[in-house]
Amino acid sequence: MTITASSVASEGKQGQPPRRVVVLGATGSVGRSTAVVLSRHPDRFEVVALAGGSDVAALATTAKVLRAGFVALADPDGYASLKDALARTGIEVAAGPDAVVEAATRASDVVVAAIAGTAGVRSTHAALKAGRTVALANKETLICAGGPVMRTVKATGATVLPLDSEHNAIFQALGGASASSIERMVLTASGGPFRTWDSARIANATVAEALKHPNWEMGPKVTIDSASLMNKGLELIEAHYLFGVAAEQLDIVVHPQSVVHGLVTFADGSVAAVMALPDMRVPITHCLAYPDRIESGARKLDLAAIGTLTFEEPDLARFPALQLAKDALMTGRGLATVLNAANEIVVEGFLRGRLRFGQMAGLVDRVCQAALADGTAREADSVEDALTIDEITRERTALLIA
Ligand code: MG
Repeated sequence: MTITASSVASEGKQGQPPRRVVVLGATGSVGRSTAVVLSRHPDRFEVVALAGGSDVAALATTAKVLRAGFVALADPDGYASLKDALARTGIEVAAGPDAVVEAATRASDVVVAAIAGTAGVRSTHAALKAGRTVALANKETLICAGGPVMRTVKATGATVLPLDSEHNAIFQALGGASASSIERMVLTASGGPFRTWDSARIANATVAEALKHPNWEMGPKVTIDSASLMNKGLELIEAHYLFGVAAEQLDIVVHPQSVVHGLVTFADGSVAAVMALPDMRVPITHCLAYPDRIESGARKLDLAAIGTLTFEEPDLARFPALQLAKDALMTGRGLATVLNAANEIVVEGFLRGRLRFGQMAGLVDRVCQAALADGTAREADSVEDALTIDEITRERTALLIA
């Protein structure tokens, strides 16, 4: 590569202090990819805090590699072993849910919110309350409590950088366009491992089959959601809050190659799409360096080598979970909160072998209908309120499965 004056200026960042980074969910799938990107640019980033769930060994190793300042473990029982693993490193250690919130709110320039599921809502919200810039991978924060969370963002002046690949692509495609110039936003879906399967076969799919995603390497929860297309439905809800667009302006297209990640149609008919090989290091790096562009380590796209990109309508009959999420978005109120909570419990039930794949959507639908009928699916007035609706829904769904 030829080094030019401008590339030195933008790459070197001479004299600028490193960007201070917090990673919540450091041992999960997005967290591990984030660590890989951070370790590639040791001069550019300073890791002020890391938080993990319960994997002490992985968290300690990551903390040492990234020379983190502070490490929080969500599981309080792991405190002694984490302390032990990081003895004589000078790294500060704490454990328990409050420790994760402390990590989220330590002084930083960007917080990568990558805890999986509703477990990540409190810490992500804490970072937003503190006015931080949050690279949001934890979509549940917006699906569970989108209304109150976006009010917090407005009140504190916090910034949300979309890290979910489709939303990141749309964010890039928008390029600062005004709201009135945007006609539609389209999220692509790979279609998952069951894209070509018939309903009967999908209904009886095994856990191993559902975990075999064709394009993306992700954690188990989001991989199951990708197989049912619930993930894409949840992403529609996420996009609604993130970009402030109406449900009618959001669309899904199935694109099995996962090269185009998101598209924006403007009023004049122009469509901006963002492409990359499916590798989470691309959106992670975009968020970490924003608005700069730096090397992510991902392979670069070669369109001629791929040859063909295809697109098709999602089949709502074979993938009823997507219809449920669309309905929740259209209905509004607290239905997204209920849908998200019920879905987490049925996915857990499926992963533990207590439910068939084909039973999940029906159960989520029953819980949603009941919540609409008795008023549980009300508009939450705070994040705590949304988490209460979430908790009630989890108990109900678990009872239904039992
Ligand atoms: Mg996604």
